[in-house]
Amino acid sequence: VWKFKEKLKGVVTKETGAVVKDFGGKASVLLVYPNEYAIGMGNLAVHSIYGMLNDREDVVCERAFLPSRGDLNEIARGDGELLSLESQRPASDFDAIAFTISFENDYLNILPMLSLAKMPSLARDRGASSPVIVAGGAAPTINPLPISEIFDVIFIGEFEEYYDEFCNVITGAGDKAEIISEFARMEGVFVPREGRGGRAVVGEAVSKRRFLKNLDEFRTQTRIYSDAAEFGDMHLIEAQRGCPRMCKFCATPAAYFPPRQRSGDAIVEMARGGRHYRARFGLIGADILSHPEFVEIAEAMHAMDATFSPSSVRADAIDEVKARLLAESGHRSISLGIEAGSERLRDALGKRTPDAKIIDAASTLARAGITRLRLYFMIGLPGERDEDLLAIAAVAKKIEAAVRSHAPKGSGNRIIDITISPFIPKPGTQFAKEPFVGEARIKSCVRAIKSSLIHERGMRLHFDSAMDARVEYELSNAASGMHEFLAEAAAHGVKMALGSYKNLEG
Ligand code: SF4
Repeated sequence: VWKFKEKLKGVVTKETGAVVKDFGGKASVLLVYPNEYAIGMGNLAVHSIYGMLNDREDVVCERAFLPSRGDLNEIARGDGELLSLESQRPASDFDAIAFTISFENDYLNILPMLSLAKMPSLARDRGASSPVIVAGGAAPTINPLPISEIFDVIFIGEFEEYYDEFCNVITGAGDKAEIISEFARMEGVFVPREGRGGRAVVGEAVSKRRFLKNLDEFRTQTRIYSDAAEFGDMHLIEAQRGCPRMCKFCATPAAYFPPRQRSGDAIVEMARGGRHYRARFGLIGADILSHPEFVEIAEAMHAMDATFSPSSVRADAIDEVKARLLAESGHRSISLGIEAGSERLRDALGKRTPDAKIIDAASTLARAGITRLRLYFMIGLPGERDEDLLAIAAVAKKIEAAVRSHAPKGSGNRIIDITISPFIPKPGTQFAKEPFVGEARIKSCVRAIKSSLIHERGMRLHFDSAMDARVEYELSNAASGMHEFLAEAAAHGVKMALGSYKNLEG
């Protein structure tokens, strides 16, 4: 335990921007990201909620992450427990514990963390002296039901819209039951113990979600710098929220509707502040190159003697000027979501990017010296035929040829990395009612793609696991609590949990 505490102290010592406050007279919130430190600190929600809560004089917020596997074993051997990072206090010392959850597969880490915190995982088993345990984030926003037995309260939508009310409730004099009933009166909040359940809640949750109207009102950016964090070499700035493209399979428009952009002036001003700490900016958004002021923003960042990196790029937004700016910012590789091999299937997904546009984008990037492309495709899509799988190989080969013929001499390695992920229908999307094709079909798709691409030079193939996809499907779509599944997964692993779950379903 002592070793774990020392480790946590060491982590905070290496950070810049962490807030260590006296607890006296303040409401205390433990902000939990249910995955390891590096991943959690790469997530802007953690920075933003942490900063907003600590901006209040009457609130103190500290963080907790899933300990690494080694630390977990060590804690299990001793009598350790879940501690906050900043002051190494036990989770049970806080007035409220707030989980921010972006990805459904992180639900698997909730029970192990509550067990470390020495708290019962079912809300109904936790007494009046236990902190109020709440959740929010993109995953519970599109469907709060899978974790409904665990949390006292689930916030649907964006935290900025709850900020003042949330702080007023936790800083009030109420006991746990009063805090929960105050939260229950707030618009958009889901309180599972009120007894509502079933499919209706899924649709209702997404449609009643609360969202921030104007991104410029809150500066969503890195608040704590750490070299140990994912993207820790960058100052991250949220440039866009949501996406106007509305691809039928994608959860981004569902969780973050309507699409919003931060103004160029605000982005540049945030970059100026971040430049004291980092010389590289991470621009977070679904389609950064289509920001109406992208060129001005990129040039302003270069003028600060800094570079930038967009979190996501669309092939049809690439032109010579933008490719040059990306190259000047040090990019040698770019990721493109192609999604489906054939134009027919791409059209059916609502991702209407013709082959010619993709080849054109690859050629333009190659001419600018960006010769490593990471291409993302999905398999198991609604309406998918065997020829669509072969079309993945065909379009990948055309892209490789385009890069080869347009790359300037001496521009370094040309590599096409291809990642294939199973399609997972998500609540709130236009494909919500489409089936998940199952592990057998996914494996046969993988075999077909491997045999058509495995011998191609300059291409590397990566396949996401069919079992992980199955787990994500179950955890995204369940119309009732998944506590039993999560408990089985925590005790015996996800494979066993899936087996028992399938038997249960018959
Ligand atoms: S797949 Fe990309 S472009 Fe399509 S809606 Fe999602 S974020 Fe937008």
